[in-house]
Amino acid sequence: MNQFSMIRNLVKENSQSMTNFLRDLIAIPSTSGNERQVAQRILLEMENLGFDEAYIDDYGSVIGRMGRGKPCLLYDGHIDTVDVADPSSWDFDPYRGKIQEGYIWGRGASDNKAAPVVQIYGLKILKEISGEAFPATVYVVGSVQEEACDGLALGHVIRQRGSDIIDGVVLGECTGCKIYRGHRGRMEIMVSTSGVSAHASAPERGENAIYNMAGVIREIEELNHRLKDDPFLGKGSIAVTKIECDTDSINCIPYGCRIYIDRRLTVGEDRESALREIRSLSSAKKADVKILRFNDPSYTGLALEQEKYYPTWVLPEDHALVHNAVKAYKNLFGTDPQIGRWTFSTNGVSSMGELGVPTIGFGPSLEEYAHSNQDRCSVEDLETACSFYAALPLMWG
Ligand SMILES: [Zn+2]
Repeated sequence: MNQFSMIRNLVKENSQSMTNFLRDLIAIPSTSGNERQVAQRILLEMENLGFDEAYIDDYGSVIGRMGRGKPCLLYDGHIDTVDVADPSSWDFDPYRGKIQEGYIWGRGASDNKAAPVVQIYGLKILKEISGEAFPATVYVVGSVQEEACDGLALGHVIRQRGSDIIDGVVLGECTGCKIYRGHRGRMEIMVSTSGVSAHASAPERGENAIYNMAGVIREIEELNHRLKDDPFLGKGSIAVTKIECDTDSINCIPYGCRIYIDRRLTVGEDRESALREIRSLSSAKKADVKILRFNDPSYTGLALEQEKYYPTWVLPEDHALVHNAVKAYKNLFGTDPQIGRWTFSTNGVSSMGELGVPTIGFGPSLEEYAHSNQDRCSVEDLETACSFYAALPLMWG
């Protein structure tokens, strides 16, 4: 029997353990900033399954390592989830979850608690078939705070380990077991205008900050149609998503106005170009344009601060990491995998967007289940993804 058949058999044998582990993780609520317990549960699994090293870092992410030497790969999945929104919209308890029609249901089943499950069991199985000849160094990272600030926790792990020692990062975010190699970047921007307060019965005595903003909003709506397009990642976009003003009462002229902008960046767009476009709008001459910042502390109390700028990234299809991922899939399943890209944003904004470490994604479940009351992952996807994570490190041999 070749090693790929052995992997698939061992995955079947471990399928029930993976299901149990995923249901345990779902049962531990872990919104961003509250991941302590789920990190400890994952650490315990790593220790029980014989990882060579397993620890929780100062920011709260859980990290396990198996093997030594080259190549050095890093598997990442984030362990925080969004909250359940309206609990009455769920027809089951999102944290108790359920198993139905071949799926494991519950908050975080798709985004992204299935990732550490398949990555950890993938390495357990690879160790079983390779023994002392484990073919690589592989880290599994269960990163915190992704839903609050994508890339921040993973970037911290990579910087501490040294970005130059890592040959490839594989993200376990939902891809429907396809190989993904990029997505659009994004920014959160605030534009402010000011004015002069006066009694609203005589508006001419003041200067209305909302009127100073009105032209900016109209020009941003038009700007959206002029943004760059890319055949692989799609078009850049800009949208005003929130507005607020400073005024003392309804009968005062407002003296301040702020709008918030969600900007999606395609190939050829970055921090500087996006800011320049807004600053050069004819009605924005007197407006202040800046990027919002993130500095919420993690559950350990540590705050890592950064701008809310998440760079676009694309790994070329002919890169060795994509080649090896395709080869692993073909060896396991006998067919060509599909290659694509995400609609949403992932920790790849730091691993590849910021730090330049080659990054791909291969995850169980589908993007459309994420953040919804249909949150689920099929057992079949768990098995497919687990096989992939077990086989990938063999491809450098
Ligand atoms: Zn996610």
